[in-house]
Amino acid sequence: MKKLELHWQILIGMGLGILFAFILSYFEWGSGFITDWIKPFGTIFINALKLIAVPLILASLIKGVSDLKDISSLSKMGLRTILTYLATTVIAVSIGLIIVNVFEPGKSIESDTREELVESYGGDAETTRQNAQKQKESGPLQALEDLVPENIFGAASSNSNMLQVIFFAIFFGIGMILIPEKQSKPIKEFFDSLNEVILKMIDLIMLAAPYGVFALLAALVVEAPSADLFIALAYYALCVAGGLILMIGFYASVVGIFTKKSPRFFLNGISPAQLLAFSTSSSAATLPVTMERVEEHLGVHPQVSSFVLPIGATINMDGTSLYQAVAAVFIAQAFGIELSFAAQLGIIATATLASIGSAAVPGAGMVMLVIVLGQAGIPEAGLALIFAVDRPLDMLRTSVNVTGDAAVAMLVAKSQDKLGDPQVKDWDDNYKKTESQN
Ligand code: ASP
Repeated sequence: MKKLELHWQILIGMGLGILFAFILSYFEWGSGFITDWIKPFGTIFINALKLIAVPLILASLIKGVSDLKDISSLSKMGLRTILTYLATTVIAVSIGLIIVNVFEPGKSIESDTREELVESYGGDAETTRQNAQKQKESGPLQALEDLVPENIFGAASSNSNMLQVIFFAIFFGIGMILIPEKQSKPIKEFFDSLNEVILKMIDLIMLAAPYGVFALLAALVVEAPSADLFIALAYYALCVAGGLILMIGFYASVVGIFTKKSPRFFLNGISPAQLLAFSTSSSAATLPVTMERVEEHLGVHPQVSSFVLPIGATINMDGTSLYQAVAAVFIAQAFGIELSFAAQLGIIATATLASIGSAAVPGAGMVMLVIVLGQAGIPEAGLALIFAVDRPLDMLRTSVNVTGDAAVAMLVAKSQDKLGDPQVKDWDDNYKKTESQN
């Protein structure tokens, strides 16, 4: 019998998780059961993905950079990657701004709904504001300073230091390029084989994906806030969701135009990563799967994907920037504040920077939204207005963030002549090979 494709398995897992949670919530003991007995499996699944992130970046990026053989190809690829990431982010913010100005979702919020929301979520919004305050207090060059770790083991001990690990890996790879090949060979072979082992571990983790997303979605359903608030915010949520869907269409068309690969090929190839991003709300946790899909299913050469994707997971968040633009103007509209054209241009700049600075973890985009609000003179208390629907929107924007990284990886690969045919490896391919040899 033909095995069901992974994205279908994941979708079925998600659907069953939601259904299961609704059925159990119908009974009094349902939510406790899910929190105690189902949710932990979702957490274990996410942890397993996160566990792979740092070793994966180290192994694949060192291998990728050292394979380049010379520094000029590295700087050419680096420049292309950063510029393309910036361009897609600015396009995303602009789409968000157009949508929110045309549909004006903030004007549909009644003043008593606004007060109810501020009352229900004011406390949560305050915590988010305080978290953002810490980021705001740092100097203008803080981000640059943070890029260089003082101790690589310290940096590698936390997933939130991904950029530092990336810096180390690129630096290490450059060192390897610059020494004679004879001397770099043993270390290169070590990282080559480490990389293979880690890719195999990702295959194994993905076998559990349908069950992992079942647990994650079931837990999410029982923890969701009341449906009334969702309805009040539906128009705003639809504007964000509409913009995000447009972005997916934009990526598929740009990839189609520049690489001549059909939108279907692109979306089919990347769909398991999108679904996982949706279920985990974290581009960092999804990174291992994004890399595997982009290399094996979209045909991007590992030299490109190992460079473009880890950087993208940390700095390229088009979904987040689009959401920040819509949310900021929505809050302004709800409070009756008119934003001038100049203020909106300011939002393009700050939302671009804020999305670059957002960590690739659940809810990070909302923390950085505070900075966008502050710069545009919009009351930060307005965060309380959008809290209730933030999680579902986070799931959607994370899928878009991951899709954007994959699209840029394809574009950069094409421009470097490193886009080939997919080379799909099954999780047990090597095992099968060894068996048949015996
Ligand atoms: N959850 C998003 C990500 O990991 C960031 C955000 O927008 O909150 O990509």
